[in-house]
Amino acid sequence: MQTRRIAIFGATGSIGINTLDVIAQLGGKDAFEITAVTGNSNVAALARLAIEHGAAMAVTADESRYDDLKQALSGTGIEAASGASGLDEAASRENDIVMAAIVGTAGLAPTLKAAATGADIALANKECLVSAGPLFTDAVKRGGGMLIPVDSEHSAIFQVFEENQRRALDRVIITASGGPFRQMSLEEMRHVDAATARAHPNWSMGLKISIDSASMFNKALEMIEAQHLFDLAPGQVEVVVHPQSIIHSMVGYADGSILAQLGAPDMRTAIGYALAYPERRPLSVERLDFAKLARLDFEAPDETRFPALRLARLAMERGGLQGAVLNGAKEVALEAFIEGRCGFLQMAEITEGVMAEMDNLPAATTIDDVYKADSEARRRAAGLLRR
Ligand code: NAD
Ligand code: MG
Repeated sequence: MQTRRIAIFGATGSIGINTLDVIAQLGGKDAFEITAVTGNSNVAALARLAIEHGAAMAVTADESRYDDLKQALSGTGIEAASGASGLDEAASRENDIVMAAIVGTAGLAPTLKAAATGADIALANKECLVSAGPLFTDAVKRGGGMLIPVDSEHSAIFQVFEENQRRALDRVIITASGGPFRQMSLEEMRHVDAATARAHPNWSMGLKISIDSASMFNKALEMIEAQHLFDLAPGQVEVVVHPQSIIHSMVGYADGSILAQLGAPDMRTAIGYALAYPERRPLSVERLDFAKLARLDFEAPDETRFPALRLARLAMERGGLQGAVLNGAKEVALEAFIEGRCGFLQMAEITEGVMAEMDNLPAATTIDDVYKADSEARRRAAGLLRR
């Protein structure tokens, strides 16, 4: 493989750390030149990663931590930068590929900037597609780079999606583990806290996505993500609960065939696929042993206990800015839940309330429309929380 220049946005997070591990497995410095790593307030970890992996630049999104970062990097020759301008600078450098793994809407601006340079985008930050939809996919197309999904479900679909058979495409079936509360009653869910909600049965992930998995808001975002990524009608996006997380998603065709991608629940497979694409390169990840697995189970998702799925369908059908509204309101409710200011079930109630209040926005024509809808949804969600 030729050496490829890569920037890693969100390098200190769960996807970021796995990306650095995959880079080491794919040949390290012989295979990748790391132009930038970015993080938020944890500048000690960011500086350590930058030094260990030989990044040219490290960016903390938190401007107040710039001096600490600069100090931690002094004498190393690694450039330090901070804030939105620092992220912008990292995104503007010449890259062959960018790992977009910042969590939340904060990832949208730098990822758009990187897309405009023509770099391929390895997309973990699903919020880009949920909030900006076609504006985001168009920006990548205009830049001329490829959009390669890293979210395991979308990587699975991407791997078995026969673009030349698009006319024979029936549906995509996104698998969901069901999260830690798969069998919990609504009444029990009313009382859970963030510590319980973050314990995912199969995947090890960042805090917010783990809680989003418990509420199935993560699956809701993934439904909208799939709609935009693969240009699907809302009715073509299905969800099935599959507690073992071995089948990572499937594509159904008009002749009745279903193609699936399977593997151990380890994000490094999807990350490695995105970084090596269009090749497949060896990775030391667990190999499936079907005799040990013995069985794979499936259940219909329950939209009464997990209303997030119903909200995703609403957002897909309404289209326009409803994805941005759903995501913005959900992020505010999620932060409130993490801080103990909002109940687990209230997260969906607040999101649904804001979506109803903002259901008549015209479709976005610019990214600014997306930011406006996002901040308005946040403002209204905060208002509902105060009631
Ligand atoms: P994480 O919380 O572990 O890491 C998030 C990263 O973003 C960190 O580097 C953090 O410093 C940075 N960050 C946080 N707030 C920021 C801000 N305001 N500005 C700039 N940077 C900021 O999250 P994660 O689990 O690695 O997830 C990252 C993204 O990938 C999310 O969009 C998530 O939905 C998606 N994703 C994650 C997984 C997974 O297995 N973890 C799987 C699929 C998709
Ligand atoms: Mg996923």
